[in-house]
Amino acid sequence: MAYKALYRTYRPNSFEEVVGQKYIVTTLKNAIEQNKIAHAYLFCGPRGTGKTTVAKLLAKAVNCPNENPPCNKCESCRMIQEGTHPDIVEIDAASNNGVDEIRNLIERVKYAPLHSRYKVYIIDEVHMLTAGAFNALLKTLEEPPSHIIFILATTEVQKVIPTIISRCQRFDFGRVSIPDIVYRLKEVLQQENITYENEVIDLVSDLSEGGVRDALSILDQVIAYAQNNLKVTHVNEIYGITTPTEKYNLIEDIIEGRTQELLESTGRIIDNGMDIKRLTNDLIEILKECVMYAYTKYDDSLLSKIEREKAKTILDKRSPEELLEMIDVLIDTAEKYRFASDVNSYFEVALLKMIDTKNGKTKKTMIQKDLVSINQEKGEEHIEKKSRKSKKSEVATDVDYELWLQLLVDADKQKRFVVENIWQDIVVYEKDVNYARYVSKLKNCSVKAVGDGFVLLATKLAAEADLINKEKEDKEFKELLKAIFNEEFVVSVLADEEFMKLVELFKDRQARNCLPEPSSKVIVETEEDTKKKEIKDDVDERMSSLFGDGMFDIVD
Ligand SMILES: [Zn+2]
Repeated sequence: MAYKALYRTYRPNSFEEVVGQKYIVTTLKNAIEQNKIAHAYLFCGPRGTGKTTVAKLLAKAVNCPNENPPCNKCESCRMIQEGTHPDIVEIDAASNNGVDEIRNLIERVKYAPLHSRYKVYIIDEVHMLTAGAFNALLKTLEEPPSHIIFILATTEVQKVIPTIISRCQRFDFGRVSIPDIVYRLKEVLQQENITYENEVIDLVSDLSEGGVRDALSILDQVIAYAQNNLKVTHVNEIYGITTPTEKYNLIEDIIEGRTQELLESTGRIIDNGMDIKRLTNDLIEILKECVMYAYTKYDDSLLSKIEREKAKTILDKRSPEELLEMIDVLIDTAEKYRFASDVNSYFEVALLKMIDTKNGKTKKTMIQKDLVSINQEKGEEHIEKKSRKSKKSEVATDVDYELWLQLLVDADKQKRFVVENIWQDIVVYEKDVNYARYVSKLKNCSVKAVGDGFVLLATKLAAEADLINKEKEDKEFKELLKAIFNEEFVVSVLADEEFMKLVELFKDRQARNCLPEPSSKVIVETEEDTKKKEIKDDVDERMSSLFGDGMFDIVD
């Protein structure tokens, strides 16, 4: 019997089996139950996140006569499963992108379905259609016959013309979370009767970058190599990854000052052809977790890259300030990689430098300052820092709140929707070594308000907000934002708690009718200032049209 790839064997047969995408699945199920089916859907998102799978489930469900569709038993369901249903047409626009193909398809649209209630056209990679084909499709989408459903899928929605997008009900498929992928992989391995070390699952889901199909393909490869007992070493051998234990051992050698051992294990890692850039980034993430762990007084939920006991051992040996210095060394090194022909020696030097951070100059960091002020606000006793509270810092806080209020006043709800949408894709940039460390923090942030040239974000921890605010002047950080938004944005990050305070303040000031006047110049002080000024008149006009009625919609 021919081997069938895991991702085909385990393709979901019901909405319940779809991994992740809960919001999309629930919305579609409700639409089917209430018989409120749209005539055109647009499924966007990265590859392997379930777009075609959900499209097929939808095609089955709308045509299945049974309870809780799809039943996968009736004739219609079975024919769709086998790909023989005459009313379900699947087109890959990557290979059929011409006007003729689309015309041909549209010709047949007018005929009633042969077998079922709906004719469903699934057009994959719809952005590949030529302009002529797009226009032909558009005409049909303007007045679709009632028996037709179009499901358009794309990985590059920005290439789909807006007039098509506006005629479709759009769903954005996000990358699937690590825990969801882990759960799915375990299910599959159990059914396949394959034993494995737990770390294998973690590694495979990490490598999959949020795509279930990729996760299963990687698993396929590991199984082909390792047979029925999967070990971490197998994955490492195939993909050149350092194991969590190896990474921890490096850190342990550093904090214990074991130079000889450190050089030996580094040499081994390099000789095995491991991915040093990835390893550098991983070490940054591990140390960062330890710092956060200390600052949150041991909040276990923050740890995903290192075990609790190991984090504690590291913190016994090094203070958070010393760990931050180690992180700085690694970050500097990662920046040098871009211009280096020999990454390995930079890496070795960085590790040696990290040994020297013991009892080094304890820099006072932004995080530390922030925690002091927050704890003071909470009225907690902070013995050593207590005396630092001064009039000056209070004034500074007030000024910040004024600035943030101004941001809220200047915010634009439509823009926020757009930015929220784009924001979901930020994880794409995590695999870029230049941006990874920023993305790892930014992805935990939610978009709270967006206006001309600025984005206000919030994240759970004040320490993390502070880290981002500190880094936002970095060249790479600016590049990343430019890459994400395709225009220049200034970013401000608040802790959730601060944001809640801000919202209260906003409501209070709104009730007393003493919010700041809308303006376009407060925060927009980027390099492109001159350009902005030229469009300022236009902005002012738009601002008054937007806020003329004094309404502002705050996110929950
Ligand atoms: Zn059925």
